[in-house]
Amino acid sequence: MRKRFAKILATVGPASAAPDTLKLLHEVGVDAFRLNFSHGSHEDHARAIKYIRAIEKSSGNSVAIVADMQGPKIRVGTFAGGEITLRYAETVSLEHGDSSDKPGLIRLPHPALMSALSIGDALKFDDGKLMVTIIGKSATGLKARVDVPGVLKNKKGVNVIGAVLPMSAMTDKDKIDMDFALAQKVDFIALSFVQTVQDVLDAQKIIKGKAGLIVKIEKPSAVDDIEAIVKLADAVMVARGDLGVELPLEQVPVVQRKIIGVARALGKPVIVATHMLESMIDAPTPTRAEASDVATAIYQGADAVMLSAETAVGRHPATAVAIMDRIIKAAEGDPSYPDNSRTHLRPQATINDAISQSIRGIAEVLGVKAVLGYTKSGSTVKRIARERPPCPILGLTPDKAVASRMALTWGVRPVVMDDPNSFDEMLSSTQTIAKEQADATPGDKIIIAAGIPFGRPGTTDTLKIATID
Ligand code: PGA
Ligand code: MN
Repeated sequence: MRKRFAKILATVGPASAAPDTLKLLHEVGVDAFRLNFSHGSHEDHARAIKYIRAIEKSSGNSVAIVADMQGPKIRVGTFAGGEITLRYAETVSLEHGDSSDKPGLIRLPHPALMSALSIGDALKFDDGKLMVTIIGKSATGLKARVDVPGVLKNKKGVNVIGAVLPMSAMTDKDKIDMDFALAQKVDFIALSFVQTVQDVLDAQKIIKGKAGLIVKIEKPSAVDDIEAIVKLADAVMVARGDLGVELPLEQVPVVQRKIIGVARALGKPVIVATHMLESMIDAPTPTRAEASDVATAIYQGADAVMLSAETAVGRHPATAVAIMDRIIKAAEGDPSYPDNSRTHLRPQATINDAISQSIRGIAEVLGVKAVLGYTKSGSTVKRIARERPPCPILGLTPDKAVASRMALTWGVRPVVMDDPNSFDEMLSSTQTIAKEQADATPGDKIIIAAGIPFGRPGTTDTLKIATID
């Protein structure tokens, strides 16, 4: 059993895709794996999924699999010499097309983008390393002034600052990837560059509840409409990589706090992502600032923290996970942690929230060993987790898919098992589960939350405090 509440989501890549490495990463702390559909073939992803499901079987732990869509990542076309140099304050041309053979001309293969841009909008290239501002518009294209100079190479990424692009968060490639991922029964689809509520609704029409939907917040327009977007989603990711290009860098910590606050209030699992232990791509230890960054996300109440290149292409994937595990445990062991992570949540006037709040109160008064929640869809257990009780939450469900999805939620240890047939059977089986899954010993107290009769979703109405015998 992991002695940790927040979860670790690690990205699979060449440095971690081997079955033994995936197994090791799980052993040292990974609760959920991310497959990045910006890279790798469907065969690569299918293989990783097969290995991860085998790990679930052999370890007895549920592991969530997240299929992360590339989204409408815009790229510049190509240049005659493979690159051009953009000099400070010079004027360059932007035209629709694929390849440029003139100095000072950048081709953009997206007609919708060309027409959406207006004077004053800015374009950043190559993860924000270069920047130009639009100063003129004509029938053939746009003129732009170089504000941040440098060398621009073929096919580098473009971020548009200022305009809301008339582009769906799903490309044709994403639709194909999504169909594939759903057929492979992944637990979550992560949707990149969400801009509007409509983007979320469009994705849900394809997903049809077959997987949870994680919205990646990396566009300012999504930040502006954050409540409505998070409300519709199953989980949310603070995607700080693109967010820090789309918004001024100093806004990233501010927006991170905001997104976590919204997600926590709504009871949606929230993941903080990108650059968490970035220096560990090469180095065997992180910087002090990185350690502090991971701890900050934990103190703020994040459900999960993510590793990207650290585990996908880094030199020390297992060490990165092990160090992240230690940083999380240290923050969670700080007596001030519960107050910090529980940002004055107001319960809704529902039976579910009344029960969840009571569970936390009872756990605090009695120091219980675990809370055992019977759940059909996972929603009861998510609501309990929202209260951040000071003990593990065992999420008991007959549905393997629901169990794997719960692996991403703070404090939840999923357990796949059939519903009991009676109250008495529940009392005896919870004794065994608490001993096996939460190290409970005679005399320990546990809390059981159930809906009587069993097996109907959203009916939790009963709390039982039991003593282990
Ligand atoms: P990415 O998303 O790694 O797929 O770009 C995360 C981020 O932008 O932070
Ligand atoms: Mn991104």
